[in-house]
Amino acid sequence: MFVYADNAATTAVSKTALDAMLPALGEVYGNPSSLHQKGREANYALMDARAAVAKCLNAEPREIYFTGCGTEADNWAITEGARMGAEKGKKHIISDTIEHHAVLHTLQKLEKQGFEVTYLPVHEDGVVRVEELKAAIREDTCLVTIMYSNNEIGTLQPVREIGAVCREKGVLFHTDAVQAVGHVPVDVVADHIDMLSLSGHKFHAPKGVGALYCKKSIRIKNFIEGGAQERGKRGGTEAIPSILAMAAALTDSCAHMQENMAKVSAMRDRLIEGLGKIPYSRCNGAPDKKAPGIVSFCFEGIEGESLLLRLDLAGICASSGSACTSGSLDPSHVLLALGMPHEIAHGSLRLSLCEFNTMEEVDYILQQVPEVVKTLRQMSPVWTHMLEKMPDPYQEG
Ligand SMILES: *Cc1c(COP(=O)(O)O)cnc(C)c1O
Repeated sequence: MFVYADNAATTAVSKTALDAMLPALGEVYGNPSSLHQKGREANYALMDARAAVAKCLNAEPREIYFTGCGTEADNWAITEGARMGAEKGKKHIISDTIEHHAVLHTLQKLEKQGFEVTYLPVHEDGVVRVEELKAAIREDTCLVTIMYSNNEIGTLQPVREIGAVCREKGVLFHTDAVQAVGHVPVDVVADHIDMLSLSGHKFHAPKGVGALYCKKSIRIKNFIEGGAQERGKRGGTEAIPSILAMAAALTDSCAHMQENMAKVSAMRDRLIEGLGKIPYSRCNGAPDKKAPGIVSFCFEGIEGESLLLRLDLAGICASSGSACTSGSLDPSHVLLALGMPHEIAHGSLRLSLCEFNTMEEVDYILQQVPEVVKTLRQMSPVWTHMLEKMPDPYQEG
């Protein structure tokens, strides 16, 4: 059996997205800035796509700026939020310890430029506390950037409450919603969001296209200098085929949101229940505070990388943490932020599902993972050492 369970790293392009993209690659080849009929055709398609993306977020079309990826949207929003703050003498930013590196590394760059950043803890459940955010806001706080849904452990942050606090205090609020848009209902008005990042390839559009939502009253400046595209704020000829595919994929996700959420959550819950039966395993992040698709576990006494390789041989594509940090031997900053000791954080497994997965696949995963964990433990000196201090859970009787 082959199971793709790494949808938080990227998703397969859906038929809906492909059907929107192929005609655009073939026929809609005009440059939307051109005045002739081919240009107008592309421009109308672009306008429709912008309106479709806006509609899914409860935003206005002029509040949507297409970008090259989610990372670009994060960089743009945070850099601009900081610049606007600095103009008013405000150089304090609030974030948290489990953000994606697109956010963390942008914040580190700003720290080198003299900004001060407060990183809120996420506690054992993987969730920030609104009270702690309130207490952290100062006279000179210019920006709060807290993700909507975490890419490694799937926890949802209390975005609506965070937005309300920021609005009340007059602080700009950005959220990296790359793992949320297309997966859970996102409403920028009800959630009091000023800026939001999204990325197409996390909801079945192709890679290399994203968007920044920026509330119309906020005067962000250019991030990329160039032509008059995106109302002059993001130069570069628009990637029409990818943008049309993203709009179609998002419209499709939003139209089937409730049924997809129900289906994916049911598979997630079965996985959490089944993997929880493995001795000395821990589910990372509170199971009742999670977005539908992401399951993260640590298994004591084994290495996550060995587990991944064996699962790959069994036809299961999974991840040990975020795709962006795999390849490094450091344990994930997200698991460490939950208070997980280094040696346990090394034995992590992330399975991320989408609506194209099936219960049969979940059952196959639940048949394979316990076996592989057991085999790896029997080969592991760390596990042998652990057995000196505890009964062997694999010994009968
Ligand atoms: C994938 C991801 C990003 C980066 O998006 P790209 O389009 O790959 O640049 C940012 N934040 C989160 C939470 C993500 O999961």
